Amino acid sequence: MGDGRQVDRAGSAPMRFQGFRRAAVLFARAVTLRCPHCGGRGIVATWFKLAPTCPTCHLRPERGESDYFLGGMMFNIALAESVFVVVLIVTLVVTWPRVPWALLQYGAPAAMVLAPIILYPFSKLVWLAFDLTLRPVVPNDFAPPQPH
Ligand SMILES: [Zn+2]
Repeated sequence: MGDGRQVDRAGSAPMRFQGFRRAAVLFARAVTLRCPHCGGRGIVATWFKLAPTCPTCHLRPERGESDYFLGGMMFNIALAESVFVVVLIVTLVVTWPRVPWALLQYGAPAAMVLAPIILYPFSKLVWLAFDLTLRPVVPNDFAPPQPH
């Protein structure tokens, strides 16, 4: 019978909001070092290396591209430079007029050296989340099932 109206998913939000919500979920998973796609753990093999595939959903973090994480490295460098700007501004504002110039002179460069190392896996996964936001997964992004 039907009256010809398309039934929307009950109470579904507009597409724009769903896109924002999806992006927020992807980024939240990335900053907690989980697979942005499925939320599973174990995608970080070591601090400097991601697993070849997500142990849960088998997503390949590099999405089949050998230079995939150049974007992640760019993000990492931008983040390290942002650390310097934030440390400088916060220190100036909080300690003015007695700014600890010596501490800034040595502390800020040290923070800039340490930040990319500390943030390395986060920047890779945030880059992956950013990419998944703009370019949702396709079947090629997953490793073929392994025979048992
Ligand atoms: Zn996964």
